[in-house]
Amino acid sequence: MRVLVVGGGGREHALAWKIARSPLVEHLWAAPGNPGIARCATCLDIAATDAEGLGGFATGHGIDLVVIGPEQPLVAGLADRLRARGLAVFGPDARAAAIEGSKVYAKRLMAAHGVPTARFATFSDPGAARRYCRELSAPCVVKTDGLAAGKGAIVCPTLGEADAAIAQCMERREFGSAGTTVVVEEFMRGEEASFFVLAGAGGVVPLAAAQDHKTVFDGDRGTNTGGMGAFVPVAAVDAAMQARIMGEIVQPTLAALSADGAPYHGVLYVGLMLTADGPRVVEFNCRFGDPECQPLVMRMDEDLVPLLAAVARGDRLSPPRPWTTDGPAAVCVTLASGGYPGHYLTGHPITGIDAAEDRGAVQVFHAGTARRDGRLVTAGGRVLGVTAVGGDLSAAIAAAYEGVHRIHFEGVHYRTDIGRRALEVRAT
Ligand code: AMP
Repeated sequence: MRVLVVGGGGREHALAWKIARSPLVEHLWAAPGNPGIARCATCLDIAATDAEGLGGFATGHGIDLVVIGPEQPLVAGLADRLRARGLAVFGPDARAAAIEGSKVYAKRLMAAHGVPTARFATFSDPGAARRYCRELSAPCVVKTDGLAAGKGAIVCPTLGEADAAIAQCMERREFGSAGTTVVVEEFMRGEEASFFVLAGAGGVVPLAAAQDHKTVFDGDRGTNTGGMGAFVPVAAVDAAMQARIMGEIVQPTLAALSADGAPYHGVLYVGLMLTADGPRVVEFNCRFGDPECQPLVMRMDEDLVPLLAAVARGDRLSPPRPWTTDGPAAVCVTLASGGYPGHYLTGHPITGIDAAEDRGAVQVFHAGTARRDGRLVTAGGRVLGVTAVGGDLSAAIAAAYEGVHRIHFEGVHYRTDIGRRALEVRAT
C-alpha cells in the first residue's frame, strides 16, 4: 500500500513510525512531516491545511490511504475534499469533526441523546453567562465554543475567576471568534482518562485508554500545556468500565452523529471524567491525542494499517483483542523548551537521541525539531516525546526516563513524575 500521513508533530511521527512497520506498506509519505518522520517516510513540502496540494499529490501518486493527524484540517473539511476525489481517507468529515470543532454542537448532541456529561448552558451574552455561573456556583468551567489550541477550557475555582474567564473569552476576545459563544458547565470530580475508539461504516473498535499530564510542573501544578506526557493503559478503565463507556457513551454518540447526517470515519477521542456516578464526557476530539498516541502505538502489538484502511474504506472492523489493564505498558515523556508554554527560544542543538534509542525499548518521537546546517535543533515548545514500553508501568517509566537522561538541549524542561501517581494508586 502507498500511504500518506498528514501532519508534522509528535502524534504524526508516532503514526508514521507504526505505519512504516506494517508489512502491507510499500511506501510512506508525510506532509509536511518533520526530521524524525523523515527517518521512516518521505517528507513533502505541502502544508497539512493545503487541501489542493494534498489532493493533487495523492491522486497523482496512487495513494491508497490518507491518514489525517491534526484537528484543524479535519474541522476545516480536508477529509471531505480528499474523499470527493475518490481517495480512501482516515479522518472524519467536517460535519462529524464538529464534535471537536464546536463545543456547543458536542454538548447539544450529548444532551439530546442522553450521553452523560457535565450540566451546562451556552451563551453569547457575557451577563447571562455570569448569572449562570452563580446558579452553578464555583468551581465551574468556562469553555470557548471553537478551537483555541487546547487553551479554550478554563477551570474557575471561584466566581471571580469565572467572571475573568468570561471577560477573556467574550469581551477581550483573546481567543478570537472561537470565544464569541461560550459553554459554561458544572465542575466534575474524579479521575480523568482518554478513551480511543476507531469508528467507520464497518463498526467500532475500542483501542485503548490513556492518561495524559496537562500541566507544566510536577504534581499537576502550573499552567496547562499541549501535554507533558502520557501513559497506557489506565487501571481504572478495566474491561467492565470499557463496556460501560462503549454502551453509555460511544455507541449513542456515533448513532447520534449518523442520525444527524454526519457518520464518523476515524478515531474518536473521548475525554472522560470517571465520577462517583460513572463515566461522563469532558470533551470529544476528532483525532488521536498528542502525546497519548505515542504510547498507544508503541504498546500496540497488532498492525494498525488494516484497521486504519478498514475505517477509510468502510470495511468491516475486526473485533478487538481482549482488553487488558495489566501487563505491558508504555509511557511518553515530553521534552519541552525552557519557558514553554510561555515564551521560549528555538534553534538549540539536540544531542543524545541515538543513545536514548540504543536499548530498543525507547523511541524518540519528534514534535518540534528542525534540521539547520546539518544539525538537529529545537523548533517548537514541545520538542521530543521520549516513549518507552515495559513489562509493566513501572518498567516503562524507568525505561522512558533512562532515555530522557541521555538527551540534551539548552533549557530542556520535562516533568519527572509521568505515570507516578498511577503507580502509587496501584500500590495501595
Ligand atoms: P477540555 O479542553 O474540554 O478537554 O478541557 C481541558 C481540561 O479542563 C480537562 O482535561 C479537564 O482537566 C478540565 N475540565 C474541562 N471540563 C471540566 C469539567 N466540567 N469538570 C472538571 N474539569 C474539567
